[in-house]
Amino acid sequence: MKNFVYSGQAARVVFGAGSLQHLVREIDAMGARKALVLCTPQQRGSAEMIADLLGPRAAGLFDRAVMHVPMETAREARALAQQLGADCAVAIGGGSTTGLGKAIALEAGLPILAIPTTYAGSEMTPIYGITEGGLKKTGKDARVLPRCVIYDPELTLALPVGMSVTSGINAIAHAAEGLYASDGNPIMDLMAKEGIAAIGRALPVIQRAADDLEARSDALYGAWLCGTVLGHVGMALHHKLCHTLGGSFNLPHAETHTIVLPHALAYNAAAAPLAMCRIAEALGGTSAAQAVFDLAQNNGAPVALKHIGMQAADLDQACDIAMQNQYPNPRPLERAAIRQLLQDAFDGVRPGV
Ligand code: NAD
Repeated sequence: MKNFVYSGQAARVVFGAGSLQHLVREIDAMGARKALVLCTPQQRGSAEMIADLLGPRAAGLFDRAVMHVPMETAREARALAQQLGADCAVAIGGGSTTGLGKAIALEAGLPILAIPTTYAGSEMTPIYGITEGGLKKTGKDARVLPRCVIYDPELTLALPVGMSVTSGINAIAHAAEGLYASDGNPIMDLMAKEGIAAIGRALPVIQRAADDLEARSDALYGAWLCGTVLGHVGMALHHKLCHTLGGSFNLPHAETHTIVLPHALAYNAAAAPLAMCRIAEALGGTSAAQAVFDLAQNNGAPVALKHIGMQAADLDQACDIAMQNQYPNPRPLERAAIRQLLQDAFDGVRPGV
């Protein structure tokens, strides 16, 4: 057993089919009285249902959450919260909506109750991101960690199968890198392995039957565990590459994670054998990289960056950006090997190890 430091983060989790019925109880337990409900334009229907459930505790609704949290949107939402006298925010949706809640919490101090409807995991982390002047600034602040999270798998039944698969593999990426994190610990290892296994068994079932509530519960349970890992330990090469590809080349978040993960794992395989063993075991395979690749491909997810909008001419620049800052990674960053990793991800090659 290696030495470790573990500091837990306080977040209350209410999990299970139908748990949305406890919303008012949870708002009261937070000591809040009026909630601003946040959502994307696409999820306005769900947000209206939340506002109805809240009744007099609903201050209003802001339905303009978008990817990457533009500063102007965050400012408008904050101003609306103030104008309506809201003392908390309820974020229903994926990482984009939770992200908007975090931007409000950061400046205005409003506590967040998150109701995740994807598997991205933002609700379990103190990490925020805000985009201003084309640049996404990320940071960590305990104030942005949602005070309470209601995980109700019934709300994920409408998540399209394609998004469910890529979002699930996005969650697996958090746990996979958590297993070789330089600041990892045995509690996170347990959560990571259990989270990967839960998502790994849920996705093929969801792919066949999107309304299978048991599989939806498994996937959301896995997303909670994987998100917790993301919130507690540092990420490495895979997350850095995805941040670069998403930020500089505007590639879609969950798809990019899905495509890059097998190749990042192959890159790190020899340097982190125990982590790879645990990932492979959780997915019922013998190679972590191949098991993740197969999970994506067998369930209809994209496996090549060239199919999601990446241009071959940009691969060199992507590699340069990824090499710019040093950060902890099991295998040192080697330019030629990372350039090859990007090429393999671009082409959609099944990893050889
Ligand atoms: P998203 O929140 O952008 O959602 C994608 C689309 O799916 C949206 O239109 C949304 O309304 C819709 N949607 C969500 N749930 C649905 C459902 N159940 N049914 C039907 N439609 C649904 O996507 P995401 O992948 O959840 O989040 C990505 C963003 O979150 C990125 O910007 C990423 O950087 C951020 N993120 C942040 C953290 C963190 O810790 N700060 C962690 C993970 C992701």
